[in-house]
Amino acid sequence: MIKTQLKFSTKFIVFSVVTFVIVFASSISYCYGYLENENRDLLTTITTRIDQFILLFIAIAILLFTLMYSFYRFVLLKPIGILMSNIEHIKNREFDYLQIPSNDDEFDKIAKNIDHLAAGIEAKERELQYIAEHDSLTGLYNRYYFNNILNEKIVTTKKDHSLALVFCDVDNFKEINDTVGHDIGDHLLVQIAQRLTSLVGDKGYLSRIGGDEFMIILSDIDTYDRIYSFIHQLHGLFDEPFTVDHHYLQVTISSGIVITDSPQVDVTTLYKEADIALYKSKEQGKNKFTIYAEEYSAQIHERKAIFEGIHKAINEGCGEFFLLYQPKIATKDGKSIKGAESLIRWESKKLGFMPPDKFIGIAEDSGLIIELGYWIIEQSCRDFLKMRAAGIEIEQMSINIASNQFTSKGFLDRVQEIIEITQIDPKNMEFELTERIIADNDTDMLETLHALQKAGIHIAIDDFGTGYSSLSYLQQLPVNRLKIDRSFVIDIDKGGAFNIVKNAIVPLAKTLKLETTAEGVETKGEYQTLKLMGVDDIQGYYFAKPMRIDEFIAFAHKQ
Ligand code: C2E
Ligand code: CA
Ligand code: CA
Repeated sequence: MIKTQLKFSTKFIVFSVVTFVIVFASSISYCYGYLENENRDLLTTITTRIDQFILLFIAIAILLFTLMYSFYRFVLLKPIGILMSNIEHIKNREFDYLQIPSNDDEFDKIAKNIDHLAAGIEAKERELQYIAEHDSLTGLYNRYYFNNILNEKIVTTKKDHSLALVFCDVDNFKEINDTVGHDIGDHLLVQIAQRLTSLVGDKGYLSRIGGDEFMIILSDIDTYDRIYSFIHQLHGLFDEPFTVDHHYLQVTISSGIVITDSPQVDVTTLYKEADIALYKSKEQGKNKFTIYAEEYSAQIHERKAIFEGIHKAINEGCGEFFLLYQPKIATKDGKSIKGAESLIRWESKKLGFMPPDKFIGIAEDSGLIIELGYWIIEQSCRDFLKMRAAGIEIEQMSINIASNQFTSKGFLDRVQEIIEITQIDPKNMEFELTERIIADNDTDMLETLHALQKAGIHIAIDDFGTGYSSLSYLQQLPVNRLKIDRSFVIDIDKGGAFNIVKNAIVPLAKTLKLETTAEGVETKGEYQTLKLMGVDDIQGYYFAKPMRIDEFIAFAHKQ
């Protein structure tokens, strides 16, 4: 554009000079032809003079034109040129190429103003770009930008080198938020981001991809040792507690790592695999790291199918589930049935028979156990009444309650509702809770326990001995029974956990006036040893496996 203007002005000047010379010369020669002979000498003299004059005139004109052109070129065109090129640079977002004019006339002022405006636009654009690429809380890269970096790093990783994607998640962040509040939770996340930044530095790329989740890319890794050492340092960052507004917060993280050396791998697959590895870490009890392996994918797949299966079965009215009952036999005569424990089974149309060990954990983790649990409680109560109606004098139906069902909203109301619907006497109900639930020492948990006891429902501590409940703590709890875990029962007659059961568990139960049931008794030797120790009841294959209600009734009639 500028060049065209320059070319145009040069042509214009040359054209003007040439026209002027031609017009001037032709007027002279016209005058010369028109005049008489005697006048021609005079004219020759005049024209000679005029020639000299013309030469001088042309010289002056050229000088003037040169001066004018220079003025035009440097004073008018140059600032316009700078303006034009600045505008062009602004259009192309090339803010670094903007020229600052040096004079102080109107053009320069316009150029400076444009430059000022451009600086404003540039600052705004940089700000918008920063917002688009960063997380507003921590200032780390956001998911969108991190995605771009990951895409780029996958293809640019050097040959024979690997790339690692590390997915970190703060353990129990929800609980932290719930106890100390969201503001403190936010500050904690900022401090976590700072610690992570101090480790990652320029060794990789760090992002907060949402909530309490962070991701790190380590590229061009030549040895796996580098990854192990990095992960070790990563978890080590959380050894020291965090201090936020006078709160001391001991925090841990779990991480999942996926390593690849393929430039063809897609980002979605990497994310999915890192997520699976992270899930594995959480499953192993948190504060753990897991490096992704192919077999995890199959496990996750199975878990998903089980979850969907339970969900569907519950929605369809729990028809695929059924309960088995295992009798609790009194040691005093080795015969009378004191109670029964209800144990769930699932005959899935799609997945086949599923033992509880395979699906209860998934139902608990997903919260599906809550709805399923109410079905179990109601069905157990109905079956208990059927057993009674069949003439079996049992005292109690023991029902397993998952921890998240026990602490769920409205638990007491739903239990009350079931009591009313089934018309069971609450005294005939016993809830089995694991030590994990009561070890929480939470006021809501204590209130629920007391309310249940007030309603007349008995409480048994399941799998007793595997948790950490202390004697003094147990004393404060409204508990009726300890169920001695099978791990203490195995081979107790041959040594086993003989001393622990005889000298610790049984005396503890007697002191606290709690009944005792030993679980998983398989042999006569185990049974007799436990009986001698003073254990009240026995549950186990030695007497009976868990049975369907009609088998249970038949078994009881034979006793
Ligand atoms: P648990 O509550 O400790 O149940 C006792 C488990 O030991 C049952 O396994 C039972 O079949 C098994 N068992 C009984 N006697 C013997 C024995 O002599 N030897 C051996 N080796 N095992 C014996 P099951 O039915 O497979 O249940 C496993 C776990 O699943 C239960 O452990 C309980 O934690 C959970 N579960 C089962 N049914 C329910 C339920 O209805 N609700 C909830 N929340 N959890 C349940
Ligand atoms: Ca149990
Ligand atoms: Ca148990």
